[in-house]
Amino acid sequence: MFCPRCGKEYAERVNFCCQCGAAMCIPVPTPSKKLTRSRKDEKIAGVCGGFAEYMEIDSTLVRLLWVGLVFFGGWGLIAYIVAWIVMPVEPLTKPEPASSAAPQPATSH
Ligand SMILES: [Zn+2]
Repeated sequence: MFCPRCGKEYAERVNFCCQCGAAMCIPVPTPSKKLTRSRKDEKIAGVCGGFAEYMEIDSTLVRLLWVGLVFFGGWGLIAYIVAWIVMPVEPLTKPEPASSAAPQPATSH
């Protein structure tokens, strides 16, 4: 680790820099909110669930809006496919303890 103020390198974790006295307690980086395809709330590809998680709204509402876009104009389907390709899948391991116990076994599709 390096001192953020003077750049002195430390092999071990220290709380304060012995050279300039700067606080070395680096706060734990909070996971940035990312638009990802949901693993736990997916119907087709988890795109709607991912959007719902990102915007903190009901995934059903997202699906209703999205289906509306598919029928009115038709580009909702294209948008879905683009989002499917572009959006990364939500990472398997989450830092916070999972409320649901074990990951559900993959059922046959
Ligand atoms: Zn320093």
